Amino acid sequence: MSPHDSRVRTRFAPSPTGFIHLGNIRSALYPWAFARSNGGAFILRIEDTDLERSSDAAVQVILESMRWLGLDYDEGPYYQMQRMDRYKAVLAQMLAQGSAYRCYMSSSELDALRERQLAAKAKPRYDGTWRPEPGKLLPPVPEGVDPVLRFRNPVGGVVAWDDKVKGRIEISNDELDDLVIARPDGTPTYNFCVVVDDIDMAITHVIRGDDHVNNTPRQINILRALGAEPPVYAHLPTVLNEQGEKMSKRHGAKPVTQYRDEGFLADAVVNYLARLGWSHGDDEIFSREQMLQWFNLDHLGKSAGQFDEAKLRWVNAQHIKAAPDAALAPLVVEQLHRRGIAADANAHLEQAIALFKDRCSTTAEIADWLAMYFAPVAPSSADLDTHLTPLVRPAIQTLREALAKAEWNRDAIQQCVKDTLAAHKLKMPQLAMAVRVLVCGRAQTPSLDAVLALFARDVVLARLREV
Ligand code: GLU
Repeated sequence: MSPHDSRVRTRFAPSPTGFIHLGNIRSALYPWAFARSNGGAFILRIEDTDLERSSDAAVQVILESMRWLGLDYDEGPYYQMQRMDRYKAVLAQMLAQGSAYRCYMSSSELDALRERQLAAKAKPRYDGTWRPEPGKLLPPVPEGVDPVLRFRNPVGGVVAWDDKVKGRIEISNDELDDLVIARPDGTPTYNFCVVVDDIDMAITHVIRGDDHVNNTPRQINILRALGAEPPVYAHLPTVLNEQGEKMSKRHGAKPVTQYRDEGFLADAVVNYLARLGWSHGDDEIFSREQMLQWFNLDHLGKSAGQFDEAKLRWVNAQHIKAAPDAALAPLVVEQLHRRGIAADANAHLEQAIALFKDRCSTTAEIADWLAMYFAPVAPSSADLDTHLTPLVRPAIQTLREALAKAEWNRDAIQQCVKDTLAAHKLKMPQLAMAVRVLVCGRAQTPSLDAVLALFARDVVLARLREV
């Protein structure tokens, strides 16, 4: 940590509960991009104090998702559970300075207070019974009650900040009661830990989901009580799923890593997520480098972004088209391995990728095409019946004999096909469809000669024999 560093310092502070989905990881992408485009530092902090809901498996998915998307961090991961001593030291300091105090109100007393307030149609809030004031006599400390620590919130005035997304926000201090910052067992509470961390990690810009906007005035007050100046805040609107609900695992959101497994490119997902809440004019498709050149906090969207998988697939398809075949090759190999097919990323594979990628929106779809080059195909009987007509069968044998003697390249293959068509008085589709069904396992493919040229001749001859 370098608390006196004047550079931009941002953080991603996920709670490792459940598997991180695209909506969550957008809250990593923006602070990362902002730090990177300003030559700043990006910090990863795991907020794991909810012991019941946090899991190491969820941490691993966060780390793996960030690695995959290339969201590299300069510091961390810090784990809040490993910082307990630090929080307790700050609690002790606040108690000593009078910005925190012990409150012995039991939960039944709090419940009774709440009921009285609700009956009087007042907003339920702590009434300050144990808040020390000059000249005020506090109640006698009850026996055997472990107190909570409460933050002594300022009275009167407002807490205000200029949110980079929402504009000016002002909250009256009288709306905020004295927040519990440590439980009876001495463990610090959520908002308090966030503040201590943001100070210790010298965070200059807090970019996070707007589900935290209600915490911000409380956090700013605690920050100030600790002698720190608040960072800049940018509260990002929620990401909705396709049904218009808040994106969540419960509502079917997939873990980020599943998109990798389904053949999406990291750069495409970054591009898509960047657009889901930020814009650079009308630009839809951009590289990571362009995004980092352009990214700022002035063009963050104010309304909720709605996830659209079809749009993500389209963005992915554009990135696949633009990607060098050599960059796609290892990803396609990985997809082939998933299908139990051994393949290497070599020049031959790259040629095949070049031939098919324009019709694919994921590397999984490319692998589905390329599988025919590595493993036997199983044409459907419907395709065989439709295309292997008695008229075409003899032509296939003619073509097979011609291919056995021809040079093995596109032009020569094309010549063999033409000669066969002429000899049997057939039209191109009649022969081409039948050959495709036999050799490729399906009737539609790119140009037949190009597709065949990428097979080993023996494989083509063997598949044409099986008529
Ligand atoms: N741990 C919080 C969450 O996952 C984020 C807290 C913050 O960014 O301040 O929602």
